[in-house]
Amino acid sequence: MKLSFLHYRLLAAAALVLILLLARCTSAPAIRDGHTLEVCGQRFPIATRVVNWRESRGYDAYREGKFFDRSEPPDGKRRYGVRANLPEAIAANVRANGLGLDDLRRVVHQFVLHYDIAGCSRQCFKVLQDVRNLSVHFLLDVDGTIYQTLDLREKAQHATIANDFSIGVEIAHPGAYPQPMNATMAVWYEKDAQGWRQRFPGWLKETGILTPDFVIRPARPEIVSGTVQGKTYHQLDFTEQQYAALARLCAALSEVFPRIRLEAPRDQNGEVVDHALPEAELRAFDGIVGHFHVQTNKQDPGPAFQWNRVLGEARRLRGR
Ligand SMILES: [Zn+2]
Repeated sequence: MKLSFLHYRLLAAAALVLILLLARCTSAPAIRDGHTLEVCGQRFPIATRVVNWRESRGYDAYREGKFFDRSEPPDGKRRYGVRANLPEAIAANVRANGLGLDDLRRVVHQFVLHYDIAGCSRQCFKVLQDVRNLSVHFLLDVDGTIYQTLDLREKAQHATIANDFSIGVEIAHPGAYPQPMNATMAVWYEKDAQGWRQRFPGWLKETGILTPDFVIRPARPEIVSGTVQGKTYHQLDFTEQQYAALARLCAALSEVFPRIRLEAPRDQNGEVVDHALPEAELRAFDGIVGHFHVQTNKQDPGPAFQWNRVLGEARRLRGR
């Protein structure tokens, strides 16, 4: 049988489709839409939903102005900055070529965990962007949805001296307080047959939570008390969905940034340190820290945060 030109073209097209399919099957790990981190313009896989700032439901910290109130013209102010105070060996290259992925991997060595005291990521972004002119790379909502607001190349304004060498996340949560269920805490929580659940104050009209009718249930039913910076604080736990998503975020970041170890600062007894580190010690630490490890005037993510759970789960996800 003699093949016509059309047949040859059809065969070539079929071969091309086969090659593309094979390439897709063998390249691991796969990039899934809505499940990526963006670093220096490249996409890296993560096994949980991450809403990018370019998506219609996303929060865009590149906007030089208010995000929610568009009645005012953009103010031209950037909420983020350029990573500075780089080690000299890296700085010369960065001056010549800009901050590339290889440089960033040598510079970024901490992931800073915050709680937002805003109760949901929409309100947190509103306060950061529209009120305080601050920024953070990630927001983690009560239902486990992660929002990325900036490329991780940028220096976000979230943790003073740690901004140049860190990535930050604001975990949606009402906060920790000096008295258990004091007036402020009582605004944010109510009790039902299954225990405490988070609610929103009347003035907060829109929560932006993506999961419809999501019930915000702390992972542990009772108030947790513990010491931060030498004082006792009381706090209800984060949600199961937040712990699951955060472990995946830690695992993915440690994969992209080899200096971010899946470890937190610990004392001689192996317990996670519950106060700010001296500056030299902080700068020397490679891994995951709380905002309270950076600054003596901070308590977040608070005494209820389950460090060993998150670190253990993240290590398990990475097969370590
Ligand atoms: Zn903080």
